[in-house]
Parts: sequence; structure tokens; C-alpha cells
Amino acid sequence: MTEETIPIIRPVLGEAEADAARAAILSGWVAQGPRVAEFEREFARTVGAEDAIAMSSCTTALHAALLVADIQPGDDVIVPSLSFIATANVVRQAGANPVFADVDEVTQNLTPATIEAVWTPRTRAVIVVHQCGVPADLEPIRAMTARTGARLIEDSACAIGSSYRGAPIGAGAELAAFSFHPRKLITTGEGGMLVTSRPDWAARARRLREHGMDLSASERHRSGGVIVERYMETGFNYRMTDVQAAIGLVQLTRLDGILERRRALAARYQLLLSRVDGMRTITDPPDALTNFQSFWVVPPHDWPHREKLMARLWDAGISSRRGIMAAHLEPAYSGHDHAPLPVTEDLSMRSLILPLHHDMTDAEQDRVVEVLFSARTVSGL
Ligand SMILES: *Cc1c(COP(=O)(O)O)cnc(C)c1O
Repeated sequence: MTEETIPIIRPVLGEAEADAARAAILSGWVAQGPRVAEFEREFARTVGAEDAIAMSSCTTALHAALLVADIQPGDDVIVPSLSFIATANVVRQAGANPVFADVDEVTQNLTPATIEAVWTPRTRAVIVVHQCGVPADLEPIRAMTARTGARLIEDSACAIGSSYRGAPIGAGAELAAFSFHPRKLITTGEGGMLVTSRPDWAARARRLREHGMDLSASERHRSGGVIVERYMETGFNYRMTDVQAAIGLVQLTRLDGILERRRALAARYQLLLSRVDGMRTITDPPDALTNFQSFWVVPPHDWPHREKLMARLWDAGISSRRGIMAAHLEPAYSGHDHAPLPVTEDLSMRSLILPLHHDMTDAEQDRVVEVLFSARTVSGL
């Protein structure tokens, strides 16, 4: 990569995060402690959730979500194949069976119809993904799972700051998991957050996070006297560190600014790209707002193959990525039974993600669009 390469995304990190990490280190408390507790409170407030439990990643938060929802070996869990592979993997990690459902072409999300099409008598949960930050149409999906007694878990890895019918993603969620990987809007290096509206599930998630222990290290520390912990079940080490939480607390204060900037840049992309007939882009669904975590486009059918477009962009110093992957096409899922997934396969083959980062200039954006348009005439389909 040259100096001038336009990155796909760049974390918004500065002196304030460095100072916060330094303060955590000098405090002597670097593992899960008071800063994690504070980060949980601030995060819950930000997304309007009852409770938030910090985890080592969104993947571990999703795994914990399946366990607190009492998903058992032999259960079916409906997931989109069109997602980062962790969405499907966590179902297997819980011993259950991922059942792939197709997605809507416009939102790239599950819909009641695509869920219904693969529903089985063993379906005990649905993991709906708010793909690239675009909120799934939750109301009818909630009605479906409520009617059948299945659980609804929201893979909100990409969706911090997105909103659905006026409420932030996470508000009112039975279970939702967020990611703080640097590829998302705010970051703690690695890290995740589980939110839930059920106090019993929150308590169990805290216990699973910490080896199944009946009290946390900070509770033991605070108690002063001698208390001996008990291990109530086989748990995990899914904890976040206080150094990460210190960074996360600063990142939360930047969220509104990051959102505003991403939405402005996305609107500009949409306008520039609308000059080509048939060029589809990520957009807000009715009644919801996306945070534009990734700006995807699907070029018209008669354009050169996606990899050709990506190569042309790369040659011009512009990073791009293939669009969202399809888990069922990966070796890890070869031989895994699934229904036809035509929309998933089409999107995973044709969509690509353009750079969109906080400090991107109008001139850089113009250049991306110009190079993309020029790639239309690349020889050889
Ligand atoms: C990034 C991502 C994850 C994984 O998040 P980690 O914090 O890296 O574990 C899961 N699901 C989706 C949809 C993602 O985009």
C-alpha cells in the first residue's frame, strides 16, 4: 500500500484514548474491573438497553447469548448465510445446527418470508443480522418468534448507532450483541457487548463470562473479608480488560460525530453513484436509519466482474473489499445441508464495499467514484 492509498475504514482514535489507556495501566487494575462496569453502564445508556455485559468479542457475546437462551444440541437456529462467518459458527459452538435462510436483495437482511421458508419443528432461535448497520425489519420477526416461543438474537456487530422506528438498535432487544473490532464504528481493539432486557439472562451471561463463578473478581475485591467463590457451571473466559473499557468509554463520546460524518459521506456517495443507471447502493430502509458501517454497491449486470473492478481500484490506490461473504460457500460448511440461497449467492458474488472513513475528503470520494466508473470499460468480462 502506498501512502496515498484510501483505506476501507480507519478507526477514529486519538490522544484521549491513549490517555485513558495510560490511566488504566497506571491504576494497576488492568483486567476486568471498574472501567468495564462503567463502560457497561454507559453503553446501556447509549443504546437504551436495560443491561449490558462486556465481552471479549461480539463472537463470544453471541455464543453466550445462545447459551442464556437455553439453545441445546439438536436445536435448529436460523441464521443468514450472508454474514460474517461468526454468525453461523457460534450456533455450532453451542452444539446446535445453523439453518441458512436467504436475504432480501435491498437490505441484505433476513425477512419474515425468508425465515418462514426454512422454519423447522426444531427451530428454537433466530439470529437476525443488521447487515452493514442496516436494521432488519424487527417488528414482524419479533411477532413470529414470540408466537412460536423461539428466541430472537440480534447480531448487531455492525449496528451501533443505527435505529429502527426511532429507537436505537439494542433498545428493547431480548438479546443483542455488538462488536468493537476496528472494522466497526467504534473500537476497543477487540471487544464486544451483550445487551438484554432480562435480568436473569444478564446474570447468567456475567457468570458464563467468568468461568461460571458465582461472584466476580471485583466483588471479591470490594468485599474486604475472606469469601470463597463457587463455580456453578462450566463457563468461559470471555472477559474484556479495563484497558479496553477505558478506550471504549472515550470512543462512546465520539459516536454521534462518527455517525454524522458517515451519513454525510454516504449521502454524497449515493448522489455521485446515481449517475449510473442500475447501480444499487446501501440505503436506509423504511422507518429505519443505518450507520453505514460498510458502504456496499452492486454494479449493473453488464459491468465487468467484481474482481476486475477491485483490481482497477487497487491499481489507483483505493482499497475495496468483496461484499458480505456467504458462509455456506466456505469449506467450513461444505456438505452442510441448506435450502436454495439465490439472493445470497448473487450478492456475495457481485457486491463490493467502497472506502468510507471518518477523515475521507470529498476529493477522495470523487476519485473513488471516477475510478469505479472508468473500470466499467475494463476489457474482458
Ligand atoms: C464483525 C462481525 C462479527 C464478529 O465480531 P467480533 O467482535 O470480531 O467477534 C459478527 N457478526 C457480524 C455480522 C460481524 O460483522
